[in-house]
Amino acid sequence: MTPLRTLETVTFDNSYARLPEVFCAKVNPTPFSAPPFLISVNPAGLDLLDLDPLEATRPEFAGVFGGSLLVPGMEPLAMLYSGHQFGVYVPQLGDGRAILLGEVKNERGERWDLHLKGAGMTPFSRDGDGRSVLRSAIREYLCCEAMHGLGIPTTRALCLVGSDDKVYREQVETAATIVRMAPSHVRFGTFEIFYYRKQHEHLKVLADYVIDQHFPHLRDASEKYARFFAEVVERTAQLVAKWQAVGWAHGVLNTDNMSILGITLDYGPYGFMDDYDPGFICNHSDHNGRYAFNQQPYIGLWNLSCLAQTLLPLAPKEELKAALDSYQTSVDRHYRGLMRAKLGLVEKRAEDEGLLQDLQSLLVGSRVDYTIFWRELGTFSSAAGATNDRLREHFLNRERFDVWAEQYCARLLSEQSRDEERRHRMDRVNPKYILRNYLAQGAIEKAQQKDYSEIDRLLTLLQNPFSEQAGMDFYAAAPPNWGKHISVSCSS
Ligand code: AMP
Ligand code: MG
Repeated sequence: MTPLRTLETVTFDNSYARLPEVFCAKVNPTPFSAPPFLISVNPAGLDLLDLDPLEATRPEFAGVFGGSLLVPGMEPLAMLYSGHQFGVYVPQLGDGRAILLGEVKNERGERWDLHLKGAGMTPFSRDGDGRSVLRSAIREYLCCEAMHGLGIPTTRALCLVGSDDKVYREQVETAATIVRMAPSHVRFGTFEIFYYRKQHEHLKVLADYVIDQHFPHLRDASEKYARFFAEVVERTAQLVAKWQAVGWAHGVLNTDNMSILGITLDYGPYGFMDDYDPGFICNHSDHNGRYAFNQQPYIGLWNLSCLAQTLLPLAPKEELKAALDSYQTSVDRHYRGLMRAKLGLVEKRAEDEGLLQDLQSLLVGSRVDYTIFWRELGTFSSAAGATNDRLREHFLNRERFDVWAEQYCARLLSEQSRDEERRHRMDRVNPKYILRNYLAQGAIEKAQQKDYSEIDRLLTLLQNPFSEQAGMDFYAAAPPNWGKHISVSCSS
C-alpha cells in the first residue's frame, strides 16, 4: 500500500518552473481578505496526490488551496500563452487568474499539476480581477469529475475553497478557488505565443519539454515534432468524438483552451444537451454559434491547423499536413465506434450509418432528451410483437419511430443480439446521470446560501454515471422547462 502523505510531505517536482524565465511569471497567490474555508474535497483527487484524507480536515488545507499559504516545494507561477479567441489572434493571454502551485509526483510516478484557479491577479490578468466566482468554480469542479466518470479525458478536480470576499460581475458575488489537476496545462496557445513572437528557440524548448515529459516514446524518434503533432491530432480527434457521442459542448474552444494532451480543459459556459439539438449553443455570448455543438469537430481541425502552423519551424510541412488530413477520418472512426456501442451493436456494418442518421433525425424532430433516450434504448425488446411503448412515447411521429424500430430490431437479430446481455453492455456506455445545467444550478443556489451538501451529492453521483444509484432517480429525470433555459457565458 502507498504510504499516505501530508501537505508538508507531498513530493514536488516542478519541471515547468525550471524552463527558461520567459515561459512564465513567478507569482504567489493573493490571499483573500476574508478567511478561506473548504467547501468540498474530492477523495479521488486526494488519492491522485497520495494525500491522507485527514489532511482535508486541517485548516491549513483550505489555507493552501484558498491561496493564503504555501507548503515547502511549491513554486507558484502563472503560465504564459496566447491564442486565437473566437477566430482572432490575441498576442498575449496567459494565466490571468490561475496559478500553478507546483507539480506533484505521486508514488505511481504520475505527475499532477496543482492549478489554483481564482488565485488573484498575475502579470497576465489584463483587465480582470484574478478571481473566480463561486458559481463558476462549482461548475468547473463538478464537470471535471463528471467527465472523468464518463471516461472522457479531462483535468481533474481536487477541491473547492470559498471566501466571503466579494467579486463584481453583473451582480455582486462571492469568490472561490478551485484546484484542478492535470499532467500538464500546456495549451495550443503556449506554442502559438513563441511562434508569433518569432522566438523559435523557445518554441523548440517547449516542444522538447512536452515530448520529454508527456510523449517520452518520441524522444529519440526521427521527425519527432511531426510525430508529436500527429499524436496530438489523434488525441484531439478522440476527445472531440467523445464529446459528440455524449452530447457535450465546451462553449469556448479557443486555442488557449485546447490542451496539448488532448484532455478537456477550462470549463466555462459548457453544457450537456438536454433535448437533442445539433445546433446547440451553450455559451450565451457566442452569438454566431462558432462553438455550437455540431461545429466542434470542425473547430478541432481549425485549432489543430493553428498548432500545425506553429510547428512549421520544427517539422516538414508535408508531414504536418498529412497529420491534419487524418483528423476528420479519425473523428469519424471514433465517433462511429462510440455510437455503435451506444446502439448496442457489436459488428461493424456499413448500413449502420443510415440507421444512426435516421435515429438522429427522429430525435431532432421530436426534441427528445438525448441522455434519457439512449439510456432507455437499452431496454429495447427484440422479441416478436414487442411494441417498445416507453421508447415510442418520446416521439411525435410514432409511425416513423416504428419504422426505425423495425429496422433496428432486424439489425440486432442479424447479429444474434440478446436483449439482456446487450442491455448490460449499453448501460456501460449510455450514462444514466449527467451534469445537467439545472442540476449544477441547484447546487450553486444552495451553495450561495452556504449549504454545500448538493455539491458533494452531485460529485459522488456523477463519478459513477453508468451505475443505477438508489434514491437518485430525480437526478436522472428530464429537466423542468426553466432548467433548459439557463444562460451561461464566458469568464466568470
Ligand atoms: P477563459 O475564457 O476563462 O479561458 O479566459 C481567457 C483568458 O482571460 C485567460 O488568459 C484567463 O486567465 C483570463 N481571465 C479570465 N477571467 C479572468 C479574471 N477574472 N481575471 C483575470 N484574468 C481572467
Ligand atoms: Mg482559458
